[in-house]
Amino acid sequence: MTNADGTIPILIIGGGIGGMAAALALARAGFPAHVVEQAPEFTEIGAGLQLAPNALRVLEGLGVMPALDEVAVKPRNLVFMHADTGEHLTTIDFGKPFRRRYGQSYTVMHRNDLLDVLLSACRDHDLVTLENNRQVEDVQDLGGGALVRFADGDTYRCGAVVGADGLWSRTRRLLADDRPIADTYVAYRGALPVAEITAPVEADDEIIWIGPHKHLVQYPIRRGELYNQVAVFRSRRYTPEDEFTDRWGVPAELDEHFASSCEPVKAAISLFNRDRRWVMYDREPLDNWTRGRVTLLGDAAHPMVQYLAQGACQAIEDAGCLARQFAAHGGDVDKAFAAYQAERIPRSALVQRVARGWGRVWHDNGDVIPVLRDRLFARRSPDDYTDLDWLYQPVSS
Ligand SMILES: Cc1cc2nc3c(=O)[nH]c(=O)nc-3n(C[C@H](O)[C@H](O)[C@H](O)COP(=O)(O)OP(=O)(O)OC[C@H]3O[C@@H](n4cnc5c(N)ncnc54)[C@H](O)[C@@H]3O)c2cc1C
Repeated sequence: MTNADGTIPILIIGGGIGGMAAALALARAGFPAHVVEQAPEFTEIGAGLQLAPNALRVLEGLGVMPALDEVAVKPRNLVFMHADTGEHLTTIDFGKPFRRRYGQSYTVMHRNDLLDVLLSACRDHDLVTLENNRQVEDVQDLGGGALVRFADGDTYRCGAVVGADGLWSRTRRLLADDRPIADTYVAYRGALPVAEITAPVEADDEIIWIGPHKHLVQYPIRRGELYNQVAVFRSRRYTPEDEFTDRWGVPAELDEHFASSCEPVKAAISLFNRDRRWVMYDREPLDNWTRGRVTLLGDAAHPMVQYLAQGACQAIEDAGCLARQFAAHGGDVDKAFAAYQAERIPRSALVQRVARGWGRVWHDNGDVIPVLRDRLFARRSPDDYTDLDWLYQPVSS
């Protein structure tokens, strides 16, 4: 869908969760959205994703909750355990009091299930155009518009560009010369058929086992048919020179780190596929996401370490906000982008910073932080949500 002069009104670079949610949100607000994705298909990796009420409220507004509810799981509790001693640390009740407070249940699902639901809603919408095999090479701000050049030499003139192209965003190069920061932790993750799980698991709970320089997250996904596991640890073999090699964060370290863990954790670790690991990256928050008619969204704007399970949630919040600001400003791109980043930068920067701090609290091996953490954890009751309000309660009307 193009304007009379052949320009694309709004081009979204990247068809991940952020880009797809933005396309749907814009289309539902009455604005045509054109997504270009470098991969031959729209797909996600085969692992789980946690969605908190702040993101679920946006997804509800996009009309996709009935479809998501068919495949999602709503855990009864989030249980924190000590990875080595097996001691129970605290429980967050995700039941009625949680839902009453935040208007949504905490929800976990397969990443592809979320992407499929967004993709199908986008395909059903007349205002969304989707293209695969479209790798963007660079983006230029032209003042009243933008020029996007593809790897095959083709170009698009656009009225507005939203860079939702992830952690290694090319669009971000227009705004900053920073690069992702490896925090020396790596993750192994994957989903298994529930029947293959030999460790004793609580079918309805999400469990996070925390300990020195490591943690393990477990929860059921896809109607409870699959069990998702993420094991994270700090690699002692990391060196900046080796960052882009596979000489660190190797499977042998996964076993070394969890060798001192309690039996249920060791049993869970033995089930991991060791073919691929993910390096935990983030970047320093930016104080500007926009140049002229080009802005950023999702990991391209605010990549964060995953310890608050908020990267995708923040991308979804971005999508809702962007569409709301386009509508509020009658499609005026300059005003919409300015209002969008004024709302989103402080919020997402706070989440980026707290995610780092939360990781330190989980992984600390000193004499003070774990003692204080465990004492605070032990004192709270399961329906004490005081420390979650800043993140899960609505941030704007
Ligand atoms: C181990 C782990 C666990 C996590 N768990 C959670 C969780 O439970 N909850 C949560 O909310 N978040 C979680 N996250 C974070 C979450 O995965 C990301 O924040 C989220 O997927 C970002 O979505 P995005 O659409 O912004 O970027 P991406 O998913 O990276 O999508 C970017 C898209 O852009 C495309 N692209 C890139 N460059 C180009 C180009 N030049 N041209 C065209 N297309 C391009 C890519 O192919 C990709 O499809 C986790 C992250 C990790 C590593």
